[in-house]
Amino acid sequence: MSVAIERDDLSFWVETPDELPCAPLRGEATAEIAIVGGGLAGLSAAYHLIQERPGLDVVLLEANRVGSGASGRNTGMLGPRVGRSLVDLCRRYGEADARRLYQATIDAVTQVKALIYAEKIACDLEETPQVKAAMTSRQVDALQAERRMLQRLGFAASWYDERQIAGISPVRYRAGLGYPHSGLLNPVRLCRELKRIVVGRGVRVHEQTRVSGFTPGHPLTLALPGGTLAAARVLLATDAYTPQLGLLRGQLIPLQTHVIQTQRLSAEQLGRLNWPGRTPFFEASNIFNYYRLTPDDRIVFGGGRPLYQAAAKDRQSGATDVADPRVWEGQAKVFSRRFPALADVAIVRRWAGTVGMTLDHLPVVGELAEAPGILFAGGWNGHGVALATASGATMADFVMRRRSPRMDFPWVRGRAPRVPPDPLRALGLSAYLTGLGLADRLQMLRESLSRRGARTAEGRVP
Ligand SMILES: Cc1cc2nc3c(=O)[nH]c(=O)nc-3n(C[C@H](O)[C@H](O)[C@H](O)COP(=O)(O)OP(=O)(O)OC[C@H]3O[C@@H](n4cnc5c(N)ncnc54)[C@H](O)[C@@H]3O)c2cc1C
Repeated sequence: MSVAIERDDLSFWVETPDELPCAPLRGEATAEIAIVGGGLAGLSAAYHLIQERPGLDVVLLEANRVGSGASGRNTGMLGPRVGRSLVDLCRRYGEADARRLYQATIDAVTQVKALIYAEKIACDLEETPQVKAAMTSRQVDALQAERRMLQRLGFAASWYDERQIAGISPVRYRAGLGYPHSGLLNPVRLCRELKRIVVGRGVRVHEQTRVSGFTPGHPLTLALPGGTLAAARVLLATDAYTPQLGLLRGQLIPLQTHVIQTQRLSAEQLGRLNWPGRTPFFEASNIFNYYRLTPDDRIVFGGGRPLYQAAAKDRQSGATDVADPRVWEGQAKVFSRRFPALADVAIVRRWAGTVGMTLDHLPVVGELAEAPGILFAGGWNGHGVALATASGATMADFVMRRRSPRMDFPWVRGRAPRVPPDPLRALGLSAYLTGLGLADRLQMLRESLSRRGARTAEGRVP
């Protein structure tokens, strides 16, 4: 494998030009509803609001271009799950509630697919299961525990033993757990298509319009580079960028995650891999990798050690959209180990993006405790392709001031647990991530020693 980087700033998905660029907002303006952030969450809110109330006066403001945050930089793996793990959800909330929470994430996947089909959104949706793959016997045990829990709660899941996973996977694993309610898509196409739909229905979308602050009151006033927007209701869909606006500081932590992507594989190169169903995989280690094929046969390979960087002169926000080339280099090494048959394939693109994390790994959806009148949807903890895209329905519930079963979840809340400020935060996170990585390495080492021991013992048997 060689590295011949063509770009390391933008994701592969934004390569195609956006056919509907929207002009910035300048001067003094008003709206009934202002949505800040043009990622999947903001666009979903705009979609649901205008769908439910045609004619509603909605303005969506995006600092850069629609899909330029995490929504345009992810790997497009649409799948269920929320929180640390299902087993952890059961421990914290009890089985009945854990079942309800997990079901809500399956419903989110179903809603995203239904939206794509109903609106005929061309975003390369592929309905395919996702498989979590184990490399060590410890990981196999953890997957078995998750499988038992899924079964006990009545969820479908498929199990692949070592022989079965070898039949579907381009990489050698010990076992795998398949999640049937999943899919793959092109996230930038999804964002741009949602923009086209909402603009067509009357939402005023303004790109390159960064909100720099809020003046409380009725209406709330948003400060913009060349003017203001006064709105009766404000919906913030700025996920990991939110602390930079002075909100959810110390609660929403921006973590950078990195991706590398290969050149297009030829049919012959693809044929060297045993990947018949093109199933996307994510690995069961603490610091994990995940990968998929694009429709035109490139491998998009994400994961590696996430990065937290303190924001310069700001002990509460955390930096966003920064990358560390060492993570990409580490990913390239892992890629070569996973795909030794692709030694002649080049890594041509790499990028990074920011995910909004919370201490308890649950999102925050609702009216912000610290800023009454401002609604927020974010903190997806890296699972936003389904959760953010489906979140607009709950935002519409809030705007319409109606109670709905969607509000009856622990993530419908106005705050998240606090994390200490920098430099303590950066030190703590770094120690935590290093510990997780060491635990992974130790497990792999033990595993290979015990396999070697078993082989030696076998050799001694006459
Ligand atoms: C590398 C990577 C891989 C991932 N892979 C997956 C995956 O496979 N599956 C999955 O489910 N999730 C994945 N995620 C997570 C997922 O992408 C996010 O959870 C989701 O996109 C968040 O959507 P959002 O709309 O809430 O936030 P964002 O997409 O980050 O949107 C926020 C928007 O707000 C704008 N903004 C910020 N500040 C301002 C301001 N002051 N004024 C105006 N606009 C502002 C930003 O420019 C941005 O466009 C991944 C994320 C990354 C980074």
